Amino acid sequence: MPTDIHPHLSEAHTPESRAEFGVNSPNSPILPGAWLGMLGGGQLGRMFTHAAQSMGYRVCVLDPDQDSPAGSVADRHICAAYTDDAALAELSSLCEAVSTEFENVPSISLERLEEAGVFVAPRGYCVSIAQNRIGEKKFFASCADRTGVPPAPHWVIQHDADVDRLPDEVLPGILKTARMGYDGKGQARVKSRDDVRAAWKAMQHVPCVLERMLPLAYEVSVLAARAADGSTATWPLAENVHRDGILFSTTMPSTSVSDDISQRARNAAATIASEMGYVGVLCIEFFVLTDGTLVANEMAPRPHNSGHITMDACETSQFEQQVRAMARLPLGSTRQHSAGKMLNLLGDCWFEFGLERTPAWDEVLAQPGAKLHLYGKNDARPSRKMGHVNCVGDHAEAADRTFDAAAKALHIPS
Ligand code: ATP
Ligand code: MG
Repeated sequence: MPTDIHPHLSEAHTPESRAEFGVNSPNSPILPGAWLGMLGGGQLGRMFTHAAQSMGYRVCVLDPDQDSPAGSVADRHICAAYTDDAALAELSSLCEAVSTEFENVPSISLERLEEAGVFVAPRGYCVSIAQNRIGEKKFFASCADRTGVPPAPHWVIQHDADVDRLPDEVLPGILKTARMGYDGKGQARVKSRDDVRAAWKAMQHVPCVLERMLPLAYEVSVLAARAADGSTATWPLAENVHRDGILFSTTMPSTSVSDDISQRARNAAATIASEMGYVGVLCIEFFVLTDGTLVANEMAPRPHNSGHITMDACETSQFEQQVRAMARLPLGSTRQHSAGKMLNLLGDCWFEFGLERTPAWDEVLAQPGAKLHLYGKNDARPSRKMGHVNCVGDHAEAADRTFDAAAKALHIPS
C-alpha cells in the first residue's frame, strides 16, 4: 500500500500554525465533551454522529423528519425546518461548531449560525457554490490555471435566446438543472437545438447548464479535507461505477487510472479546497476521458458516498476527518491500509419477484473482509440508499473476490 498522506499535511502543523491556532486563541480546538451540530439527519449525518460520539463529542442533529437515520442516534434531535429561527437559535446556543450533511441545506441557515458566532464548517459561501451548477462550473473554470483541470465545455441556459445562441460544440450534450440535481435526476440527453428546447420546456425553464457529452473512460472522485489552519489531505483516488445514475461501487485506490492522473486529481482537489477557503471534507467528482484528459464534473460540500470505503480501508475515515476539521483538530492520516471496494445497498435488495425479504446478511458477513453498514431506515424502497458493504483485503483481488461474493449473496448482479 502506498503512503497516502498529502504532502501539504506534513508541512501544515508547524509551531507557527500551532501558535496561531493555539489553545488560548479564539481558534483553539474544540475538545471532546463539547457539542457538535449537524444540519441534516440522513445516513451521512448518522455516520458522522457515530464517529463524533466515539471520540467523546455530543451531537445535536437538526432535521425536519421525526424518524431520521442521524436523529435517532444523536444525543439530541431538534425536529424542525432548517430555516426555523428557534431551532437555529437552540443549535447555536448548544453547539460550538456546526456542519452540514445535506447539500441543499438553505445557505441562509449556515449564515445565520455564522452570525450567531458558531464555527460553521464548511461556510455557507462554499456550500452555495456547490449548490448551483452554474456557479460551480464558473468556480472550476476560474481556478483551472491553478488546478490544471477545467470543467466540461458548457453553456448556461436561462433565456430562450441562450438556446438560439448556443455554440455547436456543446452538442450532443446533457442538459442539467442548475439546482437540486442528484443521482442523475434533473438531466436530459440532447442531440439538437430542438431537443434542447423540448427538454428545457419539460424542465419548466428553470436555469440549466448544457454540457457537451464527453467520451468517458472512467469516473473517479477525490475526497479531500482542509483544516482551519490551511492544511489539506486527500485520500487515494476512488473509481466509481454508476448504475441507472446511482453509485453502484467504489474501488479505492482506483485500479484503472495511472499514478500520474491520480496525483493530478488529488492535487486539483486540494487546490480547489484551498481556493474556496474550505474547512471540512469535500468530494470532487472527475471524469477521465478516453484520451487521458481530466475534467472536473461536480463537487459535494460534505463526506460522500464514494468515500464510505475510507471507514474500513484507511487510517482515518471521512467522517472522523469531518469531526477533526470542524473541531479544529489536526487532520488525521489518509493512508490506506487495505485495498477496498464498496458495494452500495439499495432498497431493491429487500425485494425479490415483488415480495419483501430479508437480505442474507449472514452470507455477506461470512466473506472475509466484508463490513456491513446499514443506515437504520425502516422503509426499504427501490433505489433508496439503505446501506453499504465495504469489502477489504490485503490486495485488490481479495477485495474484489469478497465484493463478488457479497453481491451474489444479495442477488445483485456484479
Ligand atoms: P450525483 O448523484 O453524483 O450528484 P448528478 O445527478 O448530480 O450526480 P452528474 O454527476 O453531473 O449528476 O451526472 C450523472 C452521470 O451522468 C455522471 O456520473 C456521468 O456518468 C454522466 N455524465 C454527466 N455529465 C456528463 C458529460 N458531460 N459527458 C458524459 N457523461 C456525463
Ligand atoms: Mg455526480
